[in-house]
Amino acid sequence: MTRTANPTTPTIEAATKAAAPREEKVLSPRSVERLVAGTATSDGAGVKLTRLLSQPLQRRLDPFLMLDAFGSDDPDDYIAGFPDHPHRGFETVTYMIAGRMKHQDSAGHEGLLENGGVQWMTAGRGVVHSEIPQQEEGVMEGFQLWLNLPGRDKMQAPWYRDFGAADLPRFALGGVTATVIGGESHGIAGAVTREATEPLVLDLRFEPGSRFEQPLASGHNAFVVVYRGSVTVGGKVLGPGRLAILENDPAADGVILEAAVASKALLVAGRPLGEPIAQYGPFVMNTEEEIYQAVSDYRDGRLG
Ligand code: MN
Repeated sequence: MTRTANPTTPTIEAATKAAAPREEKVLSPRSVERLVAGTATSDGAGVKLTRLLSQPLQRRLDPFLMLDAFGSDDPDDYIAGFPDHPHRGFETVTYMIAGRMKHQDSAGHEGLLENGGVQWMTAGRGVVHSEIPQQEEGVMEGFQLWLNLPGRDKMQAPWYRDFGAADLPRFALGGVTATVIGGESHGIAGAVTREATEPLVLDLRFEPGSRFEQPLASGHNAFVVVYRGSVTVGGKVLGPGRLAILENDPAADGVILEAAVASKALLVAGRPLGEPIAQYGPFVMNTEEEIYQAVSDYRDGRLG
């Protein structure tokens, strides 16, 4: 399945012509609870990454399990890619800002992820997949976010979609261009929506002096990652290399992001599952028993 566009996903034309964004006001914005510094690490066959969301934050940022940022113009940092490896129990959302990466998995899905494209993969009961760069030079930049599945859905069949940059719903409002990767913003439905966790995943591009208001349910966990320029949230100036956790203030109705200079940021939010989280590497289940099962299923070739 290559470049399968979701038939219900509006194209850029549809998003801008047929469905104009709705103005939405935030009266009482959330503040920043704390800034988390990313940790330099490597994964796969030696791809250099900055891990912005790691295991100690899984409770606080439930339903999100991990966020890795990659960005380099040195092929040595990315060329080895991620050869065959398994996943079970959650979803991965890969946003390729620059570069080309090929995906192949044991469920028969195949796709080329490039410049501005998104891949949404539900591992469910299990896939074995590879993610291999299709370039020997130039910049490779992007993010991979892990989204948990509720216990009842962890053993569902794997699912996969990739979206080219032109297929992603996008709208412009007040000097900000928003790409709606997941969820719904200002009346524009994202590329993928999920009922259980209502994940909101927005890429925001700010013109100098622009501002973006996003209503958020106060119980939903939310964070902002600035990756160009600087963005002010609740009086705090956010720059690259940090993840800003937004406070779950019951009196707040959303978040306001303001940029004095040209800037780019991800805004991510979702409804927490409140379930036990058991993780062993690429397997995320509810109990240790389920983890042992995943490990033995993988070892015996029953996973993907
Ligand atoms: Mn993977």
